[in-house]
Amino acid sequence: MSDWKVGDYAEIEDLDFKVVAVLGEFLMVDEVHGYKAEACRKMETSECGRCHEQKPHARQERHSFGVYVGKMCDDCAYDGYRDHCGLEDGQGDPQDLDEDLEPEEYYEMGLDMVEYF
Ligand SMILES: [Zn+2]
Repeated sequence: MSDWKVGDYAEIEDLDFKVVAVLGEFLMVDEVHGYKAEACRKMETSECGRCHEQKPHARQERHSFGVYVGKMCDDCAYDGYRDHCGLEDGQGDPQDLDEDLEPEEYYEMGLDMVEYF
């Protein structure tokens, strides 16, 4: 038996997804699609400095238009910045911006509280 539960993040090949249901030995991506749990790896999560949810990749450093904007999860990086922090088509071109490049706020945990060693 696995210890998978709803809300875990699973990784299989180059895909990662949030488990919405555990049906027998299958981890469900949505109501009709799932993967065998034994083929999936559980992803490490940590608290995102922006949305404060436990997310994978939450401690990845993000850049928008070439400017460091802090560490946050994929969703925050994607939704929060016009160039999606390069998650879609790469970094935005600073020449396309008509505003100041300085980010207003850094989203970052003050201390590495979740790293024990
Ligand atoms: Zn987030």
